[in-house]
Amino acid sequence: MQHTRHGWWLEEAGEVAPTRPLDGDATADVVVVGGGYLGLWTAWHLRELEPELDVLVLDAELCGHGPSGRNGGFCETLWGDAYRLREQAGDAAALATCRASEKAVRGIGAWCEANGVDAWFREAPMLTVATTESQLGSWDESMRAAAELGAPDEIAEERAEGIRARCDSPLFLGGAVQRLNATVHPARLALGLRRVLIARGVRIHERTQVTELYPDGGVETRSGRVHAAATVLAVNSAAVGFPAHGRSLAVASSHIVLTEPVPDVIDELGWTGGEAIVDARTLVHYMRTTRDGRIVFGWGGGRMGYDARLATRLERDPGVVAAARESLVRFFPQLEGRALTHAWGGPIDVSPTHTPIFGSRGRAHHGFGFTGNGVGPSYLGGQILARLALDRRDELTALPIVDPPRKLFPPEPFRYLGGSLIRRALVAKDAAEDAGRRPGFATRLVASLPRRLGLRLPR
Ligand SMILES: Cc1cc2nc3c(=O)[nH]c(=O)nc-3n(C[C@H](O)[C@H](O)[C@H](O)COP(=O)(O)OP(=O)(O)OC[C@H]3O[C@@H](n4cnc5c(N)ncnc54)[C@H](O)[C@@H]3O)c2cc1C
Repeated sequence: MQHTRHGWWLEEAGEVAPTRPLDGDATADVVVVGGGYLGLWTAWHLRELEPELDVLVLDAELCGHGPSGRNGGFCETLWGDAYRLREQAGDAAALATCRASEKAVRGIGAWCEANGVDAWFREAPMLTVATTESQLGSWDESMRAAAELGAPDEIAEERAEGIRARCDSPLFLGGAVQRLNATVHPARLALGLRRVLIARGVRIHERTQVTELYPDGGVETRSGRVHAAATVLAVNSAAVGFPAHGRSLAVASSHIVLTEPVPDVIDELGWTGGEAIVDARTLVHYMRTTRDGRIVFGWGGGRMGYDARLATRLERDPGVVAAARESLVRFFPQLEGRALTHAWGGPIDVSPTHTPIFGSRGRAHHGFGFTGNGVGPSYLGGQILARLALDRRDELTALPIVDPPRKLFPPEPFRYLGGSLIRRALVAKDAAEDAGRRPGFATRLVASLPRRLGLRLPR
């Protein structure tokens, strides 16, 4: 098994030649910092709103080579967060946000179609499954929220037989089916966006790191200053390195292992409907199939990052990969003895509310905090940030994920130490429950801390 930095998706999508780094000073109407999905969708929507706008995208490495090019490819709505959104902002605002996130999932599919980008977009429901008795019903809050918001069809409970008819893992005891979801080939989507934007005349400079943001809309790079009317910061977990946002997020990590093509196993499991599946643990396992008959299996139980630099070191974690590999065979015993070809990982930008955060500091606008659900919502984020950058207010900029009441993580080293302690407790809690044991008192106490402090964890 190859443990690669960028993962299999980018390998499959094929190499791209980097664009020229920015040398010296420059000007633009809007400068977008970061060329992952969020930055690229922002550039796309800016041009949709104002076709002649001069948009400059700067990326420290290569666009789409961060988590956007190597994630699990679950393209989700925000319905799973509906109950949190209700608590935060009330029913009408929660419903509007979930509906906007549905349009984002469909918008990505329509965009791929219209722009000739074959990102393996496939609409199919998402299953949340219980693999222990203690996980049964963990979807009740989301299901009730959807029903009470007048959308009872969005999330429906399904018994073990129904779930196992979709994917016959012996671990599945029941689950919930989220109606609208899709899977994508993450790298083909990110690189497709990059290609379409370049063809449309958006200037992209790669290997250009931004070191400072100014409230007047300009930015500083290692080689000069960019003067612009507005800036959009879309750098994912690297936002912790910018003083204005240092405590607005925490950095965790997620890791994936990939099988060789196993179409026979997928057939035997009856998993031919393209469903994305996530279990209901606290630190989730997530799994899906690919067009060429592989199984992608991830675990959100990676270590915490101390700061942006350490976050990139989280990309490689043999211990976490070994744990994911072991779990994969528990889920699908047919895979015993079958080869895993690749493993990779990357940082997760954890929001204190579990929902993404968009907003403005003067003419510098920002987005982060996807907490492991950024593929679908980054399209919506791009719509929002494009509007903020052009100072156009509408129903999207009025959503509660825009300038929400500020909630901060503790300063370092407490964020890192506390986060790591909680992560260990959660790993122990999940492991005890997997083994059919009740976790010990100390473990339960530490694992419950985030909720008691009003913080939410990545699923
Ligand atoms: C292993 C893994 C699995 C995941 N699975 C899923 C999933 O199945 N579904 C889902 O919805 N989400 C998933 N996620 C999360 C998802 O990938 C992210 O939420 C999403 O890609 C975020 O996009 P982004 O544009 O904000 O960030 P990124 O893709 O990280 O892009 C940010 C860009 O900013 C650049 N940058 C950073 N600092 C600077 C700087 N100072 N100057 C200039 N450029 C800079 C980086 O080089 C990078 O290209 C997963 C994440 C990981 C790591």
